[in-house]
Amino acid sequence: MENTANSSFLRQSSENKPLEELLAAPTTNGKTTIHDIVKPVFPNAADSDYANAQQREQALNSIGKARLQLGKTYLPIINGEYTNTAQIVDSVNPSNPKEVVGKIGLISVEQAEHAIKAAKAAFPGWKKTPVRERTAILRKAADLMEKRRHELTAWMVLEVGKPLNQCNAEVSEAIDFCRYYADEMERLDMGYKYDTAGETDRYSYQPRGISLVISPWNFPLAIPTGMTVSSLVTGNCTLLKPAETSSVIASKIAEILVEAGFPKGVFQFVPGKGSSVGDFMVKHPDVNSITFTGSQEVGCHIYAEAAILRPGQKHLKRVIAEMGGKNAIIVDESADLDQAVAGVVYSAFGYSGQKCSACSRVVVSAPIYDAFVERLVEATRSLNIGDAEKPSTQVGPVIDDKAQKRIQEYIAKGKREAKVAIEMTAPEDGYFVGPVVFKDVSPNATIAQEEIFGPVLAVMKAQNFTEALEIANGTNFALTGGLYSRTPSHIERAKAEFEVGNIYINRGITGAIVSRQPFGGFKLSGVGSKAGGPDYLLQFLEPRTITENVQRQGFAPIEGVDS
Ligand code: NAP
Ligand code: MG
Repeated sequence: MENTANSSFLRQSSENKPLEELLAAPTTNGKTTIHDIVKPVFPNAADSDYANAQQREQALNSIGKARLQLGKTYLPIINGEYTNTAQIVDSVNPSNPKEVVGKIGLISVEQAEHAIKAAKAAFPGWKKTPVRERTAILRKAADLMEKRRHELTAWMVLEVGKPLNQCNAEVSEAIDFCRYYADEMERLDMGYKYDTAGETDRYSYQPRGISLVISPWNFPLAIPTGMTVSSLVTGNCTLLKPAETSSVIASKIAEILVEAGFPKGVFQFVPGKGSSVGDFMVKHPDVNSITFTGSQEVGCHIYAEAAILRPGQKHLKRVIAEMGGKNAIIVDESADLDQAVAGVVYSAFGYSGQKCSACSRVVVSAPIYDAFVERLVEATRSLNIGDAEKPSTQVGPVIDDKAQKRIQEYIAKGKREAKVAIEMTAPEDGYFVGPVVFKDVSPNATIAQEEIFGPVLAVMKAQNFTEALEIANGTNFALTGGLYSRTPSHIERAKAEFEVGNIYINRGITGAIVSRQPFGGFKLSGVGSKAGGPDYLLQFLEPRTITENVQRQGFAPIEGVDS
């Protein structure tokens, strides 16, 4: 394999390459970017190593400890106070819905109004707080998360049914967001200097104001942490409204952010019904920005509502909306099938297909179609489906009964549209759906076009690479995509023509890493710059230019001047 790799010396020496090029020192990246200058390698947090018996034991002990605290009540934090609410709902363990993980106090519209007033009052002070103080709080939050890594992992396993090792990786991602955005804010705080003789021209940033963060349940720690700390570090007073089904984990984030030092009114935790209280806050004239991650339906609704100028509103709202995907992996005839099958199975069924980046379509080149499908079916058959807390589990439950029912309806529809290649059985108790692979799916079928957000995979056949790209690009979404190929011209074409925000070549398509793989899509997958990337914080800031004529003005003496 080494001698046939395109990058190998032997292979290249047979291609008439100039000697200097063949003998040049290896580099990983020829171009220098702004990012290299700031911090060449961002030191990402390391996941726990569950091959190490001690770390495995810590993880399982933490689940045991969390279990002793099941059913506790978690309250909103408004203006620095834990506040009682009229409405309290249960959050349950999807692997075992009889287990109530926690009870969540949901705020009313009046309490939302109160929180927005508190944010408004806190804003002038937070805006003036030096950036170094703000970034120190983010770094402290990261350290607190690292200390509580096993505990946070345990709550995720219990509240959203994500398998243990994937929860652990999510803690690393949340930590990375805190440290990365702290670095980034310090970079932006330097501003730009465009001075000429006799004139200073300074370019700098100010916060936008009051910021509402609305998060999904599927990355219950990393996504709300990332959206919230980016908004805070840029100087905005921020309200976090989590998804109802992941509110216990969100209250752990709130606990950590308060302990790290965000002052009252600056950060507030406002769990509440999305469709009523969430909607009220989106429409509120004092809210300046809305940072949303979730479904296309809700994202488009928020985008439209935020565009309407309300009485008393003196600004236009900015909306960042990261939405769904219908992500495809192309497998061409030159692909290494061992690699492709394993990558597709993990990308499709990791966290039961409930990642926005999950693979839900595979487009396979005709000459290898049958061989690929056969191996894909056997690999799928080998998956362990069960309780998320068992270390052997590869596919856990889906989030709730509504999701389970919706996915089952899509599977029924799929059976009318295409052929079942394999349908796995799943445990009866709990919100489980066994993975399903459909083959010979038409690119226009419903199951090939709509986001299902469950363990359902559509396999399609392409006669050539051009057709494969057409099928892959043939949806309303553009989030992630993948290619398995050993044909350099196909790899080049995919880089240029595959319409997705994140493209992965010869590897799985989930698990983007902060700073290394900034994440986010376009088309109906969202509006906004990539999370964990160099442009992200700019969305929370307003740039200003200050020009001053500094030719001798003869400044007035201090004394005697009206101040
Ligand atoms: P969702 O149903 O759209 O809910 C997301 C959030 O919006 C929740 O906090 C929800 O609150 C709130 N909400 C609902 N209706 C609202 C309204 N009218 N006004 C204001 N807020 C409202 O999405 P989800 O089921 O949690 O998450 C899954 C979706 O997220 C998938 O489509 C997935 O692709 C997408 N996603 C995208 C990315 C990305 O980076 N592009 C990342 C992760 C997930 P309640 O819980 O109270 O209803
Ligand atoms: Mg739950």
